[in-house]
Amino acid sequence: MTNTVNKDLNLVPFVSVDDMMKIILELGVEEMMLGICEYLEDDFKRWELFDKTPRVASHSQEGVIELMPTSDGEVYGFKYVNGHPKNTQDGLQTVTAFGVLSDVNTGYPVLFTEMTILTALRTAATSAMAAKYLMPKGSKTMAMIGNGAQSEFQALAFKAICGIENVRLYDIDASASDRCMANLEGRGLNAIKCNSEQMAVEGAEIITTVTADKQYATILTDNMVGSGVHINAIGGDCPGKTELHKDILLRSEIFVEYPPQTRIEGEIQQLDEDYPVKELWQVMTGEIEGRTDEKQITLFDSVGFAIEDFSALRYIRDKLEETGHYQNLDMLADPDDPRDLFGMVLRAAKN
Ligand code: NAD
Repeated sequence: MTNTVNKDLNLVPFVSVDDMMKIILELGVEEMMLGICEYLEDDFKRWELFDKTPRVASHSQEGVIELMPTSDGEVYGFKYVNGHPKNTQDGLQTVTAFGVLSDVNTGYPVLFTEMTILTALRTAATSAMAAKYLMPKGSKTMAMIGNGAQSEFQALAFKAICGIENVRLYDIDASASDRCMANLEGRGLNAIKCNSEQMAVEGAEIITTVTADKQYATILTDNMVGSGVHINAIGGDCPGKTELHKDILLRSEIFVEYPPQTRIEGEIQQLDEDYPVKELWQVMTGEIEGRTDEKQITLFDSVGFAIEDFSALRYIRDKLEETGHYQNLDMLADPDDPRDLFGMVLRAAKN
């Protein structure tokens, strides 16, 4: 892989938050969801050739900071991401991120980008991609419990990728649902604000849980989940941080991204470590079946895996030339003689 944007390999294209917003406004949110979904499908279908490792997590009382690396042998990527549920009380984001893609042959970075917004896009595209394979046929209504930063992205991905028409919103903070409703206005979705989890799940074929709380929470209890529903559980993504009552897991067919990471971080941390789960990529390649009957409860126990970030990074890199929204960063030292790094520093004093 080469640096497609710069001839000068020492200049690394950098996509700032401002650039990312311009890219989204230019390409359109739903168009980007569909585009990222294509890249995700490509990468999930070649899952086996990737380097894979559970993310490297540094936990503290209030949150977690994580590094998420992977490589397909030609391109290497990683994301830095945090998760701090209490941040919003201080006006800060729960999740912020940035990421890098590099050329495996030279080790030189070819993209450096903000990934707070890109993570919301890739998480939503991944959720909707999984639902496309697992939800009941013809699903039109999704309940969404937790209406924070990820929520509008989730709703729009399910509209674009799965054909969802109605979203039933519930949040313990009613103002979060109000904001979500207002942001979704005029986007072709029928958004309904609900007073309780029970009200939100009424008539929904898909239930998305996307709350943030660093504890074993019970956002959904067993009696709220009827047969045939698809659950897209996103918020339980850390040791000690889950959203679903264990009984729901025992009634569901469970699909995960990368089992060694999900067993540490996902809803299934509540189950025995050898409890059988299925890998989403195998459903996508046709090696195993997804939903097998209308009454089955399917659960996508999402924690977010490095390959999803890799796909999103590849997508953004491929859009740089078309959109032109990036700046070149002088990130790599470039002495005339590669071994004369010290001399380069000395010569800078003369300039
Ligand atoms: P956020 O803090 O912006 O929003 C979370 C919302 O959940 C808030 O509006 C809060 O009021 C609400 N909430 C908390 N407890 C609730 C409860 N018991 N019932 C109903 N609502 C409740 O966070 P965010 O950026 O939207 O992220 C949401 C979650 O998704 C986080 O836990 C985050 O770690 C996780 N996440 C997962 C992935 C993934 O790939 N699986 C990616 C990104 C974020």
